[in-house]
Amino acid sequence: MRKPYLGIVAVVLVVLILQGFNLSTARETKPPASASANVSDAQIVDAENQPGNWLTYGRTYSEQRFSPLQVINDKNAGRLGLAWYFDLDTHRGQEATPIVVDGAMYFSTAWSKVFALNAVTGSRLWSYDPKVPRQWGANACCDVVNRGVAVWRGKIYIGTLDGRLIALDAATGRPIWQRLTIDPHWRYTITGAPRIVKGKVIIGNGGAEFGVRGYVSAYDAQTGKLVWRFYTVPGDPSKPFEQPILAQAAQTWTGTWWKIGGGGAVWDAIVYDPELDLLYIGVGNGGPWNEKYRSPKGGENLFTCSVVALKPDTGEYVWHYQENAADEWDFDSSEQMILANIPMEGKQRKVLLHAPKNGFFYVIDRESGALISAKPYTFINWASGVDMKTGRPMESDIARYSRVDSQPIVSSPIVPGPLGAHSWQPMSYSPLTGLTYIPVNEVGFNFKSPKDFGFKNSALNFGIDMVAAGMPQDPKIKKSILDSIKGKMVAWDPVQQKQAWAVERPGPWNGGTLATAGNLVFEGTAAGRFEAYRADTGEKVWSFDAQTGVMAGPVTYTVNGEQYVAVLAGWGGVFPLVAGEVSFKSGRVRNVSRMLAFKLDGRASLPPLPPFEEPVLNPPASTASVAAIHRGEAVYQRFCSGCHGDVAVSGGLLPDLRYSAALADPQWFKIVRDGAYQSLGMVSFGKEVSQQDAADVRAYVIFRANQTVDEAKRPATGATEDVQEPKN
Ligand code: CA
Repeated sequence: MRKPYLGIVAVVLVVLILQGFNLSTARETKPPASASANVSDAQIVDAENQPGNWLTYGRTYSEQRFSPLQVINDKNAGRLGLAWYFDLDTHRGQEATPIVVDGAMYFSTAWSKVFALNAVTGSRLWSYDPKVPRQWGANACCDVVNRGVAVWRGKIYIGTLDGRLIALDAATGRPIWQRLTIDPHWRYTITGAPRIVKGKVIIGNGGAEFGVRGYVSAYDAQTGKLVWRFYTVPGDPSKPFEQPILAQAAQTWTGTWWKIGGGGAVWDAIVYDPELDLLYIGVGNGGPWNEKYRSPKGGENLFTCSVVALKPDTGEYVWHYQENAADEWDFDSSEQMILANIPMEGKQRKVLLHAPKNGFFYVIDRESGALISAKPYTFINWASGVDMKTGRPMESDIARYSRVDSQPIVSSPIVPGPLGAHSWQPMSYSPLTGLTYIPVNEVGFNFKSPKDFGFKNSALNFGIDMVAAGMPQDPKIKKSILDSIKGKMVAWDPVQQKQAWAVERPGPWNGGTLATAGNLVFEGTAAGRFEAYRADTGEKVWSFDAQTGVMAGPVTYTVNGEQYVAVLAGWGGVFPLVAGEVSFKSGRVRNVSRMLAFKLDGRASLPPLPPFEEPVLNPPASTASVAAIHRGEAVYQRFCSGCHGDVAVSGGLLPDLRYSAALADPQWFKIVRDGAYQSLGMVSFGKEVSQQDAADVRAYVIFRANQTVDEAKRPATGATEDVQEPKN
């Protein structure tokens, strides 16, 4: 009698295993008693002592992204397996760090949606869609991403791409209050995570590339009432300044910057220091990038590219340290900051660790804002170091392109470029190893002043020659540029200011890092993996095929004593959106957006990816004049490349126009100028792009498509070509 019964069990098990059935779901523990997220200010201050939860963006107020958990450690990490996954309904870049409270997980996705999941099973508790109009995506420089939510006293807070701050009921996902934090006549976006500080929600915004005036706001977390706002750049000096310090800041500007915003967006780092009761904000670049068009007679342009300390109760200015005076390379200082107490020169110092885009690792005294040390954490050529007397970078000759008449093209790109040596992908710091784990990019950029520039509120306003910045099509030059582009995870010793070890990656734009007391560092990669390394040596101990690029910061938590590591997967963000061919440096990955959660001996598996189907390129013949193609290139690079990719090569997130059926159809003009695809996010460019411009852009894209077809036919170039190169 027993044998047939066992046989059925065996068949069922085989079927379940073949289907990749999630066994942890089968023996699901009870869902969290309530997704109440009843987190007080005191609990966030005390987050260090709640290692099972992940209560705020960087786990604790110090934002070290270090977890004391060690159930999963360097000895057993090889046993890590997928516990569960949750598929998302958006297919753009995923950058959020989830929050975990008592077995419930809360996170945001592309288009500012919010999800609450059971952190043990991955089952959905609720979801919320703020219904961001798709046209607003055209106001986002860097994809329609969102980096996270905040939780406090039963509420979940989300900043939306279109500038709203919304409080949701943590139990149901229903909105409690909503505030518009921006003037919608300017092209502001919110992509950063709100932070809760002393009963207030602190939120910034982005948009310096379009021409906005940066600020950070504090709202009463209970009622949504605006408590204070700190502007990072002065407004029109003929009107009263909102804060006294702005009168001083205005002395560092020239021209009529307030008409074009001035930039200084606080788009990511907002860190609270409960020890000193200070709030540190990371301020972004000036807008436009080119100093000549922003502050034509010079000036430091405070508080762009600065770390600024404020009083959290009032928003009052306390101190600042400007990392780049008169920036013109998009060297935001918005990148995440870590607070630590580190023994230096025989005494314990309260420091702020910062690895902004410009490539220097700064150790700053967070009581005074004084610079303690600064050293490049990767290859840079725009500066030779930081002058410790002035705290200013020592710029190299090639750097300040606005003052160079004829910038040499290609031969000397400025490194790093606007992608930054380190961008928003969070770094982590382990007090056990004393190391900071930084996702590093090594990507140069050709900056050149344009012949002329007109500010347009409706367009990207870099104030640079975007044709000169584009990828050259000479195969040898292109190859040398592609070869020069790198990515790595650098373990950096902030006391010695030197690299302890590094993991080389094929390309840039890898993921944020998480360090744990299990002597582990976790990082996702642009090549589509999620990996663990020994925190002390950098030895790889585990790697998982995530099927998509993983950029977000991972977290770890426990439920009923079992430790999980979770990360939001989904390729996107500014790099694949704008970088064209360069964005394939780590291979062609697709966007497969999911929350992934791992544990020891997890047995779930991802469904296999359907094979990648290379689309067929069959463009109309290229018959336009060289002049028309050149005109089209200039218009394309200024108005189209920000979404459809550099020199008409899409990184795969948005349509590649070389393949567009509309190239041979009058529909082209309806799409470009009349907003025929507005509901899909392709806004009308009727104001910026004339009928002739649109025709020229079409001629350019057709030319590029034919060039691509020809390139594919050409035999691969190699040593023979080198031999045949004429010698002068
Ligand atoms: Ca920027």
